[in-house]
Amino acid sequence: MKVGFIGLGIMGKPMAKNLLKAGHEVCVNDFHPESVAELVEAGATSAATNAEVAKDVEVVITMVPNVRAALLEKDGVIDGASSDTVIIDMSSIDPVESKKISAELKEKKGIEMLDCPVSGGEPKAIDGTLSIMCGGNKEVFDKYVDLLKAMGSSVVYVGEIGSGNVAKLANQMVVASNIGICAEAMTFAKKMGTDPELVYQAIRGGLAGSTVMDAKVPMMLEGNYKPGFRIDLHIKDLNNALNASHAINMPVPMTAHMMEVMQELKNHDEGSCDHDDIIRYYERMTGVSVVKGK
Ligand code: NAD
Repeated sequence: MKVGFIGLGIMGKPMAKNLLKAGHEVCVNDFHPESVAELVEAGATSAATNAEVAKDVEVVITMVPNVRAALLEKDGVIDGASSDTVIIDMSSIDPVESKKISAELKEKKGIEMLDCPVSGGEPKAIDGTLSIMCGGNKEVFDKYVDLLKAMGSSVVYVGEIGSGNVAKLANQMVVASNIGICAEAMTFAKKMGTDPELVYQAIRGGLAGSTVMDAKVPMMLEGNYKPGFRIDLHIKDLNNALNASHAINMPVPMTAHMMEVMQELKNHDEGSCDHDDIIRYYERMTGVSVVKGK
């Protein structure tokens, strides 16, 4: 299948490579020429604008922070797409914005859009084992589910357009609080004079264990804050979760609390760090570090 891929960042680059490995013809674009060059080296073609990416492909996938700009603004996908082009946005955005963008694409050019955000981070993007949550027209989903399976091991249809991003926000709420309590528990162990690494080994196989714990606690113990998933992006997601839940009059106290923790990190110029950096909020508050040897 001929596929356009826009946004070759931490996530998009390995996802586009997996489409190539699955035998698809991929045309790419990104603001960073070196990322484009890397994909061309791997077998992709490239185009100078997002409009040009859309000209000769059946499907355009976006994996960018600003989806509206990539799709609808100057030289955006809509300028090159036809009514037969299908757009699959795999970025994480506000579900309300996803619905609005989809409606504009349909009204202006009759274009179908699916919202299919992902979870799993860079390691699963590389392995092609992402969890993909999908919203939009079910027939369109059924047609492209195999394409999505080239990037993920779990591809679940959730409902109408926007539903994929509702699932993703739920995911981000759980991940934020889960990292937060892991950081709190590891700091508690250290302050009690018990080795946090041994506490981690002791509890990871029990009810407290989680994918988040196994991904993030080892990073905290190594003092590794290399992203992964940046604090700035998690703030964006929690902001969307707060807006969406307030719009339906639902208080979300745990999400709101984690948002404030992340604001503290941002104020310390740590917005570009991985979200395991939440451990440094506890470090500043308690004066102890869980990093091995410290
Ligand atoms: P990133 O900042 O690493 O990459 C984004 C890339 O998109 C950059 O290379 C940038 O140059 C490019 N880009 C931005 N706007 C563009 C445009 N208009 N045209 C062409 N290229 C453009 O971000 P990321 O971490 O890969 O995240 C991308 C999306 O995936 C975000 O919505 C994020 O929330 C979501 N996400 C990220 C992770 C993760 O672990 N990093 C996990 C799940 C979901």
